Amino acid sequence: MPGADAAAADARVTPMMRQFLEIKTANPDSLLFYRMGDFYELFFEDAVVASRALGITLTTRGKHLGTDIPMCGVPVHAADDYLQRLIALGHRVAVCEQMEDPAEAKKRGSKSVVRRDVVRLVTPGTLTEDNLLDSRRNNFLAALARLRAGGDDGFALAWADISTGEFAVVEATRAELPALIARVDPGELLIADALYDDGDLRDLWRDMRSAVTPLPTAVFDSTAAERRLRDYFDVATLDGFGPLGRPEIAAAGAVIAYIDRTQMGEKPPLKIPAREARGAVMAIDPATRANLELVSTLSGERRGSLAEAVDRTVTAAGGRELARRLSSPLTDPQRIAARHAAVAWLAERPALRRGLRETMHAAPDIARARARIVLARGGPRDLAGIRDGIGAVHALCARLRADAGPGPDGAAGTGADMPPILADIAARLDGPDRALFDELTTALVERPPHLRRDGGFIQADFAADLDDARRLRDESRQIVAGLQARYQEATGIKSLKVRHNNVLGYFVEVTAQHGDRMLAAPLSETFFHRQTLASQVRFSTTELADLEGRIASAAERAMALENEIFDALVARIVGDGAALEAAAAALGELDVHAGFAELAVERNYVRPVVSDDLAFDIVGGRHPVVEQALARDGGGPFVANDCDLSPPDGVSGDAAAGRILLITGPNMAGKSTFLRQNALIAVLAQAGGFVPAETAHIGVVDRLFSRVGAADDLARGRSTFMVEMVETAAILNQSGPRALVILDEIGRGTATFDGLSIAWATIEHLHEVNGCRALFATHFHELTALAETMARLHNATVQVKEWKGEVVFLHEVVPGAADRSYGIQVAKLAGLPAPVLSRAREVLERLEETDRRAGAAGLADDLPLFATHVRSAAATPVPPANAALVQRLGGVSPDDLTPLQALEMLYELKRLAETGGDGQDAG
Ligand code: ADP
Ligand code: MG
Repeated sequence: MPGADAAAADARVTPMMRQFLEIKTANPDSLLFYRMGDFYELFFEDAVVASRALGITLTTRGKHLGTDIPMCGVPVHAADDYLQRLIALGHRVAVCEQMEDPAEAKKRGSKSVVRRDVVRLVTPGTLTEDNLLDSRRNNFLAALARLRAGGDDGFALAWADISTGEFAVVEATRAELPALIARVDPGELLIADALYDDGDLRDLWRDMRSAVTPLPTAVFDSTAAERRLRDYFDVATLDGFGPLGRPEIAAAGAVIAYIDRTQMGEKPPLKIPAREARGAVMAIDPATRANLELVSTLSGERRGSLAEAVDRTVTAAGGRELARRLSSPLTDPQRIAARHAAVAWLAERPALRRGLRETMHAAPDIARARARIVLARGGPRDLAGIRDGIGAVHALCARLRADAGPGPDGAAGTGADMPPILADIAARLDGPDRALFDELTTALVERPPHLRRDGGFIQADFAADLDDARRLRDESRQIVAGLQARYQEATGIKSLKVRHNNVLGYFVEVTAQHGDRMLAAPLSETFFHRQTLASQVRFSTTELADLEGRIASAAERAMALENEIFDALVARIVGDGAALEAAAAALGELDVHAGFAELAVERNYVRPVVSDDLAFDIVGGRHPVVEQALARDGGGPFVANDCDLSPPDGVSGDAAAGRILLITGPNMAGKSTFLRQNALIAVLAQAGGFVPAETAHIGVVDRLFSRVGAADDLARGRSTFMVEMVETAAILNQSGPRALVILDEIGRGTATFDGLSIAWATIEHLHEVNGCRALFATHFHELTALAETMARLHNATVQVKEWKGEVVFLHEVVPGAADRSYGIQVAKLAGLPAPVLSRAREVLERLEETDRRAGAAGLADDLPLFATHVRSAAATPVPPANAALVQRLGGVSPDDLTPLQALEMLYELKRLAETGGDGQDAG
């Protein structure tokens, strides 16, 4: 890119190119969409990049410093499409508009350039347009801040969706980051340069699906952040936001700073940041999310995911809310039960539910329409969206309240029995101003156009002066329409036409053969020649010119009046912001509850009991996705299975710890399905939904882990065994008694004895150290011997029948161990050639014989106890902290130190460290 040297002014740099370079220099890391008439043009390197990314033609335009300037362009009307593709590819785009009419610029002299300015930076996290966004997903802009505190850094993540107004913030530790970021799944993550370059965190950024944008570290300064938040929300102090810590303020402030920078001062309608309590949601790390296919499958599609299987919502807001709930199940049994109560109430009232869902289905996306309006990007259709939205929420409120009787359908009542969540939803639905609805209804036509400049969105009879202007315009148009017949008669030319184009305006057109007669008197007195084409000649008349002027000025006046009314309505909508926003959120929530109720009725789900203990008792559980897939493909019924992981000696008490179920059974028997269905049932239950089971009792799960052995896990492009071990390590290091751990064929990715040994030790660790509830599927039958020595380990197997040498899968989980793998039978099903099968049988018999002579049961007895390993590892001494240092530091209040004092303090600490023993970094 030519930069500063270009400014060393080559005299031949055109004024326009000079303007372009100035703007480009101010936006070095974005592609610059430079508006020229009906196109956005890109120049230089931008043009090369964009033409390649978009597959559009690269041309040149003039020269700069002696070389051709590469150029490509996209038409303004199709710009959204191109923007979307560039953003999806990870680019950022600066949109530079013409800030005045070209005619204005001309007045300043023929050489002067139209004023242009960047009006917006388009980045992945700051989109608002419907066609750039997925309507059923949030698009979060997130910022991660770190507060250095020596060994244990504190982090905070803030995230906002500027297209809907949501804004939240939470504190986290380093270990919690992967799960947290995976849950929020931001479209763009902002981090300080220093974090970006941090060796310890670099892998995290690299594995991220979202765009990562490093920013100068100063953007994360908590003092500046505090000021920015105060300004944005126009408050004197942040006290009203709850007790926000320094990192939380820094993160939230960075989000605001970035919005400021990209929106050029336009303020999206953000709520004040909601502070999420630590541990309020089930921690689910990225690998587990991917594995359980919560919101998308391993191949990245929504089809086949849990979200798709359980989604019965009918609105975009409901879809977004559901996705949020499924990715962040709650951990507070009371809040969870409150959601279940709402679902139960709606499940009992089919007629009410149907009515609510019909109304919601027709409702527009209020939150996104409002965000566009507030950002001055809204059109008439967004106003109609607000109008119809208010209409819908009021109707929903009325329906809910009317139907809130003491009993199921039909019973009348006062609404006193309505679950609190629904009563609160009803109250918020009632919030938006009725007068605003009336105004919008009287002002707007039923179906207004997308764009303001199309006009015609204000109803007739709404404003007298607008009606006048329109009448004038339309009458003149009618006169023009009548002129053709009159002119045909006057000239005797039947083929004469009155036509219109953008260059000439209205004109009279005759074929060339009549041209001469029109050009001669007496006709030439009325018809002035304008243009001669190959086969037509064109004329105008004083009358036409006059009418044209009248039409243009009346149309212009009508447009101006419509715009005035538009602006007034926008101001009203902005003014009623909080109520609209609350109602929009309430609609999304209602949709989720009603959708869960619909699902429960449709697929026979039950209300789970979620308690504060360590129970995990599912009776007749089914896999929500596989069950539906089987039904859809006519694949026979899904076989329901029980799963009891509750502590054997009672569910509560300090010593209580859940069971581990070790599941063996042949390939294709249904082990993986069984494992996942139990994890998914926990997720669904804690997200607030009913579950596919006969009964379900779940002690709150605070962390969920799911891992699949490397051989099963083909979707990753890395050394799979290494990945498997890294992930297993995370589980063993992080699971406490409230965790639920799903391990599927761990140890598969390496040689048999290695794998078996690792699986063996892993189970022992889960049992002895983690004490968590766990499901462990394995093809190592040797492991079943462990049940004899471990009190809380139980064996289960998935039944198969052998019938005439073939296996029949019963998919039934029963206590006990599988006697064999049936691998050869499965191989037969798969069509392996007969000689291979019979040879394999022979080898197997031989191997089994050897195996029986040195059984694994013997091994379990011979090995030293696992506990001795835990003890010896724990005995490694930790260096003692420097007491004098710690004590001195404890008395320091950094906020009260001048820089000089701080420096002196540093010397003193260093002295202390040297005299007091080991010099530990207090960071
Ligand atoms: P495994 O892990 O034991 O090899 P999977 O869990 O992958 O077996 O199951 C194999 C197939 O069996 C699944 O794709 C599914 O179609 C079917 N299946 C599994 N469990 C059940 C069940 N409980 N009822 C009906 N079909 C099942
Ligand atoms: Mg499997």
